[in-house]
Amino acid sequence: MVLGAGFGGLELTTILSDALGDAVETVLIDKNDAFVFGFSKLDVMFGRQMPAEVRHPYRHIVKPGVRFLQSTVRSIDPKARRVATDDGTFEGDILVVALGADLDPVATPGMMEGGNEFYSVAGAFAVRDVLPRFERGVAIIGVTGKSFKCPPAPSETALLLHDYLVARGRREATEISLVMPFGTPIPPSPETSRAILAAFEERDIRFVKESLVKALDTGRKVAVLSDGTEMQYELFLGVPVHRVPQVVVESGLAAGAYGWVPVNKKTLETNFPGVYAIGDVNGVGTAKAGVFAEGAARVVAAGIIAQQRGGPSPEAYKGDGSCYVEFGHGLVGKVHVDFLSGPKPVGTFHGASEALLAEKAQFGSSRLQRWFGQPRS
Ligand SMILES: Cc1cc2nc3c(=O)[nH]c(=O)nc-3n(C[C@H](O)[C@H](O)[C@H](O)COP(=O)(O)OP(=O)(O)OC[C@H]3O[C@@H](n4cnc5c(N)ncnc54)[C@H](O)[C@@H]3O)c2cc1C
Repeated sequence: MVLGAGFGGLELTTILSDALGDAVETVLIDKNDAFVFGFSKLDVMFGRQMPAEVRHPYRHIVKPGVRFLQSTVRSIDPKARRVATDDGTFEGDILVVALGADLDPVATPGMMEGGNEFYSVAGAFAVRDVLPRFERGVAIIGVTGKSFKCPPAPSETALLLHDYLVARGRREATEISLVMPFGTPIPPSPETSRAILAAFEERDIRFVKESLVKALDTGRKVAVLSDGTEMQYELFLGVPVHRVPQVVVESGLAAGAYGWVPVNKKTLETNFPGVYAIGDVNGVGTAKAGVFAEGAARVVAAGIIAQQRGGPSPEAYKGDGSCYVEFGHGLVGKVHVDFLSGPKPVGTFHGASEALLAEKAQFGSSRLQRWFGQPRS
C-alpha cells in the first residue's frame, strides 16, 4: 500500500511494477486526480505554462500490478498496516507513507486575507492572475516557517519576478525583497549561495536573512518579521508554514505537527515494522525536495524487491540529490547536495547555463515517461 502519489509514491510504484509486474499487488492512493511538479507552479505563476498543461492525470497510470485509487486517507493504523479511506479500508503487507507535507497558511495571521501563498497548486495558479495587477511598490517573497520544501524556490521566485516585471516595463516602479530564515540562500552550498546573492545584487533584489514573516497587518499593508521589524508591502508572495499531515500525526507515526516521521536513516523504515515513510513527510535530515523523495523511494523499492526475490539487502539511503535552480534570463543552475554521508551537508554548484535549462526539461519529461508512460506535453 502506497499512500500519496507524489514524487515518492509515483517513483516507488513504477519501480515495483517494472521489476515485479503483477507478482505484487500495489494500491496507490491519492486524494487528487492529477500530479503537478513543484517547479510547474512557478511556470504557471509567471505565465510560462497554462494550468492545464502541467496537470498530469492519474488515470493515465496503467502499470502491471498497480491500482490507483483516488480517495482521501482518513486514518492509518501502523501496527495492523491498515488504512481507512473514503472508499473503504485496506490492509497491506507493506505500508509506505508518502503523504508529503501539509501547508498551513492560516498559521500566519493575515496571509489569507492580505497575501498570496504560492506553494499549493491552487495558490500558485491564483497568483498568475494577481501578478498582472502589481504595478508599483514593494513585493515581498516571505518564508513563514523554518522547514519548507525546495529551499531554492523562494530565491527562484525573486529572480523570475524580476524578469516578469522587466518584461512588463514595471521594474523601475517596483522593489523586490526576499525574507528567508537562513543566513544564505542555500546553506549547504556556499558557492550556490554566492551565485544567487550576486544575481540578487545585479538585479537590486534585497535579501533579508535569518528572518521569518510572522504576520501580515493587512490594514497597514505591513509584514511583521520574527524580530518585530516591519516591512511595507504591496504584493506578498508567501511560503506557508509546513506541517506533518494530521492523519499521520493521529496515527502515532509522528510525534507532533512539526515532528516529521522518524525513520531508520538507512532503510526509511519507521518505528513500526513493515511501515516506511519517504519524502517530505519524514525527518531523515535531507531537504524537502522531489529528488530526495525519489531517492528514498528507490531504496524502499529495492528492499521490497530483494524480499520478494530473496536477494541481498539493498544499499543504504544516501540522502543526496540535485536540484535545479532558475536564475532568470532563461538560465538554470544546479546544486547537488549530499546530506547524510558526512558530519554536515555538502553541496556542489553547477553554474547557470542553457544546457542545464534543457537538462531540467529532460528531468521532467523522463519522469512523466516513466510514471505515466507518456512524454511531457
Ligand atoms: C514552488 C515549488 C517548487 C519546487 N521545485 C522543485 C524542484 O525543482 N525540484 C525538486 O526536487 N522539488 C521541488 N519542489 C519540492 C517537491 O515538489 C516536493 O518536495 C515533492 O513533491 C515531495 O514529494 P513527496 O512524494 O514527499 O510528496 P508530494 O509530492 O507532496 O506528494 C504527496 C501526495 O500525498 C497526497 N495526500 C496528502 N494527504 C493525503 C490524504 N490524507 N489522503 C490522500 N492523499 C493525500 C497529496 O495529494 C500528494 O499528491 C518544489 C516545491 C514547490 C512548492
